[in-house]
Amino acid sequence: MTRWPSDYSDAWTLAAAVERRGVGLHSGGEARVRLQPSERPGFHVGWLDRPDLLLQRLQPEQVCATQLCTTLQLEGRRLATVEHLLAALAGCGVSQAEILVEGEEIPLLDGSALPWVEAIAEAGLRRLGPRPQLRLSGGPITVQHGASFALALPAEGLRLGAAIEFPQPAIGRQVFSLELTPERFVAEIASARTFGFLDQVEQLRAAGLIRGGALDNALVCDGEGWLNPPLRHPDEPVRHKLLDLLGDLALVGLPQAQVFAYRGSHGLHTALASALAAAAAPLAASAPLAAAVSSP
Ligand SMILES: [Zn+2]
Repeated sequence: MTRWPSDYSDAWTLAAAVERRGVGLHSGGEARVRLQPSERPGFHVGWLDRPDLLLQRLQPEQVCATQLCTTLQLEGRRLATVEHLLAALAGCGVSQAEILVEGEEIPLLDGSALPWVEAIAEAGLRRLGPRPQLRLSGGPITVQHGASFALALPAEGLRLGAAIEFPQPAIGRQVFSLELTPERFVAEIASARTFGFLDQVEQLRAAGLIRGGALDNALVCDGEGWLNPPLRHPDEPVRHKLLDLLGDLALVGLPQAQVFAYRGSHGLHTALASALAAAAAPLAASAPLAAAVSSP
């Protein structure tokens, strides 16, 4: 069994490269992803089929679409469905890695972050030193989209919470929160799968979306129940919402904060990530790492 870092106070990268391939949810196309160690802080995306292009450091400003998944615009190329992979990396304690992709979408795999956690465990982790911490220098941050909101309060450590409310009795109102550590992420969040609704699935298919969606990579709700039980947790939908929140926050890095999202969506989460990027001051844990953070 993998020994995960005890918390997020240190910087970690992968100990070796690891590769996975699979089908993209929206395009239905085959994609390949290689994760490899990085000496630079943050997550950096490059292309397996274009090794001549420079790797881009991920940041919230690259978000260009948030319908169903988080899509980034990376200098002329788009990359969709980054959130579950980023949740797995950040959740497991990885603060820096290179993500090399062939294709336009990160494979959905089983719809959760678990296959990525297994890939990270296979690669192993390497400790680099103290991690520069993202702290909210200007007090609480709130983001509101209609009836949805997210807020971040300064705190020691990282506490994540989410609440969802759906009229469908199979889901209803669910609340979940935890003091996040890599071990708790792996045990309580990583395996929660993405979910959708039967009527929506038909509409999206007709619109040419979710071509790679199937009953083996998403929970499908018909209102009263689930087409593909059993659930991995009784409250799997809200746990997945928390997984999505974590993946979107990973675009800026994990803050020292208490973060809560009510009826979250990728649009709401990535707006919060942008607000965090603007408000959070990277406090140097050590001089060399601080210098690396502020360099382009
Ligand atoms: Zn998701």
